[in-house]
Amino acid sequence: MLDEFIHEPRIAYFSMEIALRNEMPTYAGGLGVLAGDTVRSATDLELPMVAVSLVSRAGYFRQEIDAQGRQLEHEEIWDPRSWAHPLDAKIAVRIDDRSVWIGAWLFVLEGHMGGRQPVLLLDTDLDENSSDDRAITHYLYGGDNTYRLKQEIVLGIGGVRLLQALGFAIRHFHMNEGHSALLGLELMRRYTYPVEELRPGESPYDLPRVRDLCSFTTHTPVEAGHDRFSYELVKRVLDNGFDMQVIKGLAGEDSLNMTRLALNLSEYINGVAKKHAEVSNAMFPGYKVHAITNGVHPYLWTAENFRQLYDHYLPGWCHEPQLLMRADCCIPDAAIWEAHVQAKQHLIEKVQSLTGVVLRPDIAIFGFARRMTAYKRPDLLFSNLERLRAIARKHPFQIVLAGKAHPRDENGKQIIAQLHAQASALADAITVVYLPDYDMALAQLMTAGVDVWLNTPLPPFEASGTSGMKAAFNGVPNLSILDGWWLEGCLEGITGWAIGDATGLPDDNARALYDKLEQVVLPLYYNSDRSAWIKVMKGAISKNASYFNSHRMMRRYATEAYAR
Ligand SMILES: *Cc1c(COP(=O)(O)O)cnc(C)c1O
Repeated sequence: MLDEFIHEPRIAYFSMEIALRNEMPTYAGGLGVLAGDTVRSATDLELPMVAVSLVSRAGYFRQEIDAQGRQLEHEEIWDPRSWAHPLDAKIAVRIDDRSVWIGAWLFVLEGHMGGRQPVLLLDTDLDENSSDDRAITHYLYGGDNTYRLKQEIVLGIGGVRLLQALGFAIRHFHMNEGHSALLGLELMRRYTYPVEELRPGESPYDLPRVRDLCSFTTHTPVEAGHDRFSYELVKRVLDNGFDMQVIKGLAGEDSLNMTRLALNLSEYINGVAKKHAEVSNAMFPGYKVHAITNGVHPYLWTAENFRQLYDHYLPGWCHEPQLLMRADCCIPDAAIWEAHVQAKQHLIEKVQSLTGVVLRPDIAIFGFARRMTAYKRPDLLFSNLERLRAIARKHPFQIVLAGKAHPRDENGKQIIAQLHAQASALADAITVVYLPDYDMALAQLMTAGVDVWLNTPLPPFEASGTSGMKAAFNGVPNLSILDGWWLEGCLEGITGWAIGDATGLPDDNARALYDKLEQVVLPLYYNSDRSAWIKVMKGAISKNASYFNSHRMMRRYATEAYAR
C-alpha cells in the first residue's frame, strides 16, 4: 500500500493537528487548516511529502451552544476506517517507564490536480496497550499537561520511528509549531559520534547533522501558546535513556520549553508573517527567525462560482495563483457580482437551516469567525451598542459570527455567552447570528458569502491569520486591525480597509472601527454606482489572493527551508 510513496525522498511534515477533510475532526482551527493547506499545495506542486499527525479518534469537540449562550462540548468520535487504511507496522516508545505501542493509519490526500500524498495518523488505541495508553491519541488538545507530554512523545519520537519502520526515505523534517520538537531528540539518538572519537565529557550527539535536517515554524507570540513541561514531569514520563543535562542545555534550565528545543535543533526557523518574524526575533534573541507569510490553498478556499469564473478568464490560476493579479482587468464586473450574489445566497440558506433566521440578500453582511479567545477580541465590534445601532439606522447591516473556545479557555467561553447576550439586545435593530460548531465547511461558506470580512485582534498577537485570505479568494474585502498578514495585505481602499494605525488603544480601535464602517465601508457598499465596490472586490482578488496562497508559501519553503 505504501509502495508508491517510500522510494522517493520526502519532506516529513509534523503537526499535532491537520485539516484533511471536514468529516475528520483531526484539527481544531487555523493551525490545522494551515497544515492541511501545506500538504494540499505540496500535492499540487508535486513536492514529495509525508505528513505525520495524530488520529484524534474523539476529535477536538463538537460545539453546541445552549439558550443562555453557553458552549457545550461533545466528543466527536470518528471512525478512521471510513477515510484511512490501517498499516501493519507498529513501533514502541517508552512512556512512564513502560512500552507504549504506536500504529498508524494511512490517509492518502488526493489533490484536485491528480497528485497523491501520504499522511500518517498515529494511533495508540491498540490491544497491546493499557486502557489509559490507548487513549493517548483520542483527544486533540485534551487532558492535562501529562497527557499533552505523552501525546508529544507519540508524535515526535513515535513519528520518526514509525517513518523508519515503514521504510520512508526522509530528506528533511519540518516541525509545524513546537508540539513535535521531541522528534529532534530521536534524531539525536540516531546521529551520534562513535564513542572512540569522543574526548572525555564531550557530547556524543551530532547536533549539526540533526539541525541540518530540521526546520521549525513558530506560530504564536502568545506565551501560553508555547508548551512547557516541568523536569519533574519529564523525568517521570519521558524515556530515561535521554541525558537530562543535554536536554536542559537545549530546552531550558527551568522547564522543558518545546519552542526552545525546536529553535535549538533547527537550522531554518521562520515566523508566519513579516511582523510575526520581527516579534519572534525579539522574543528569541540569538536566533535568526525568517519570515514566510502564510497562505491558503487556492482551490479549496475558492467557492464553486468563483472557480468557474477564474477557470474561464484566468485559466491555470489553480497552479499559478499569481495569474489572479489580472482579475481586476480581465473579469467583467457583472460576472464578479453575480458569483458573489450566489455565494451570499448559499450562506443565507445555511444560516436559515442552522438558526431559522432569514438574512436579507440586499443588506450588507459582516462576517467574523475564528477561535474565540481574548486576544482575537471578537467583542470589539460590540463595545458600544448605541454607536452600532446609530450606524445601522443610517446604513443597515447584518452580522454572522462563529467560533469555538478551547474547553479550558473560560474567558473565551464567557465571550461567546456575552456575544449571544449582545445579539439579543440588538435584535430589534441589527440581525446578529452565531453559527455553532465552526469548521472548515462553515469557513468555506462564510468567507465566501459575506460582504466584508472582519478581524479585530489585539496587536501583536495575531501571528498571521488566514481566514481573511480565504475571503480574498472570493472577492470579499477585509476590514481589519493592522496586525499579522493584514500589515502586508492591506492597501487602503484598494484591497479592503485598515482599522486604526497599528498602535491604537482598545477604545481607539473600537472608535476607528465604527468610523470606518460609518464613513467609508457602508457608504461605498450602498453607493448607487456599484462599480466602486466591485473594484475593491477585484482588488482583494488581484492583490491579496494572488499572493497570500499556500502555493507561494510552499515554493518558498521548498527553496529556502527544505533545499539545504
Ligand atoms: C481558516 C480557519 C481558521 C483560522 O481563522 P483565523 O482568522 O486565521 O484565526 C480557524 N478555524 C477554521 C475552521 C478555519 O477554516
